[in-house]
Amino acid sequence: MTENRCRKCLLKEAFPEDYEKYVASLLKRIAPQDRTDDERYQTRLAVCRQCDQLNNGTCMGCGCLVELRAAYRKEHCPFRRWPQ
Ligand code: SF4
Repeated sequence: MTENRCRKCLLKEAFPEDYEKYVASLLKRIAPQDRTDDERYQTRLAVCRQCDQLNNGTCMGCGCLVELRAAYRKEHCPFRRWPQ
């Protein structure tokens, strides 16, 4: 990754090539029963985009790429900021 920093950007927006390499391929491997439905996924990511813990698509609270973490239905925000 470059030195560009964005506190509101997801990886897909900040570094599309890294998103394809590290996130897109893994999203396809999540079993449908484990996958967050799209509406909830977008809601979670909208919260992350407004969060002070977001740094270039990574959550500084847990170290995860939020676009990946949010895609797992049973995952949660480390600070309980996602709606239930
Ligand atoms: S997972 Fe939670 S703490 Fe991390 S960036 Fe998203 S809202 Fe913020």
